[in-house]
Amino acid sequence: SLTIGIVGLPNVGKSTLFNALTKNDVLAANYPFATIEPNVGVVGVPDPRLAKLAEIFGSAKILPATVDFVDIAGIVRGASEGEGLGNKFLANIRESDAICQVIRAFKDENVVHVDGRISPKSDIETINTELILADLQTIEKVLPRLAKEARVKKDVQPKVKAIEEAKEILETGQTLFAAGVVQGTEKAEPLHDLHLLTTKPFLYVFNVDEEELTDDAFKAEQRALVAPAEAIFLNAKLEADLAELDDDEALELLQSVGQEEPGLATLAHVGFNTLGLQTYLTAGPKETRAWTIKKGATAPEAAGVIHTDFQKGFIKAEVISFEDLVETGSVAEARSAGKARMEGKEYVMRDGDVVEFRFNV
Ligand code: GDP
Repeated sequence: SLTIGIVGLPNVGKSTLFNALTKNDVLAANYPFATIEPNVGVVGVPDPRLAKLAEIFGSAKILPATVDFVDIAGIVRGASEGEGLGNKFLANIRESDAICQVIRAFKDENVVHVDGRISPKSDIETINTELILADLQTIEKVLPRLAKEARVKKDVQPKVKAIEEAKEILETGQTLFAAGVVQGTEKAEPLHDLHLLTTKPFLYVFNVDEEELTDDAFKAEQRALVAPAEAIFLNAKLEADLAELDDDEALELLQSVGQEEPGLATLAHVGFNTLGLQTYLTAGPKETRAWTIKKGATAPEAAGVIHTDFQKGFIKAEVISFEDLVETGSVAEARSAGKARMEGKEYVMRDGDVVEFRFNV
């Protein structure tokens, strides 16, 4: 499955956040036989629709979609040159599908900052510089050979051109992501086999003091620093506390700091979107479940997420939108109201589709 790598300078609250993430672990509760790597936190993506469906179908349990976060230790200035855990760090990032930077904004004299001052802007620059330098190194390793090859092989020329353009962007101090050259899109396609770090989608977690959680001017300023990446504001210590509480107590604590949902819930949502994922839903007496698919997935591809045989033997999908199902109150009622659609192989799944697949075995 797709993973989000968590990176950040030392002492910014990564471990605190990661511990909160793993305490929140939905795998432990729902998939007791799953083996989990110690540096992976699997977080449920909260979806209020699931409880509604479970009520309609009398489901015994609810399985939300999940996002995997990987704790990647070791970024310091000079990581691209192999400082600290540099090389291992870069390899771990290369394996992630998105990069989540944790940025310190909280002020606490008892927690030393590696550079002796709190400055989200320069911390972001420090991390991005290491990632950009690593990409430039990768490019410098392959470009001379490819450029030579392109002189005799015309089909290599577009690739060389794309690499040269990427190099120019990186040399201005910009990540490829910020310049719109994003993994999985056409623009990044010629660069695919270079596995450049900064073509991965980025998201930012600002670890802030509680007062800043509701400080809109402050948040707008930080958002502007990282756009087009998404920014999430949370207090890592608060998140760790919330993860220990039951629902009612957690809600009370959240309200006392002016928040509607835990920062981890926001992080799960934003992470899920950043990875380019969406869900569809299945429901029955046994379970109500959100299944994860790529945005734009077709009905047979969606069926394949449940079982490869469902994809191979796909006949059609009976689809009812979540809203129609809630409005009519049951599958039978939805059918007689003409709200149940039979969709074929070409159908592109929509968020909130409640689905039953028909297939040959
Ligand atoms: P890491 O090095 O990035 O993994 O940072 P840690 O999670 O180990 O946190 C470093 C120190 O900062 C620890 O003493 C934490 O208790 C403290 N810390 C983490 N988050 C916060 C926060 O939101 N506010 C304050 N005041 N301290 C925090």
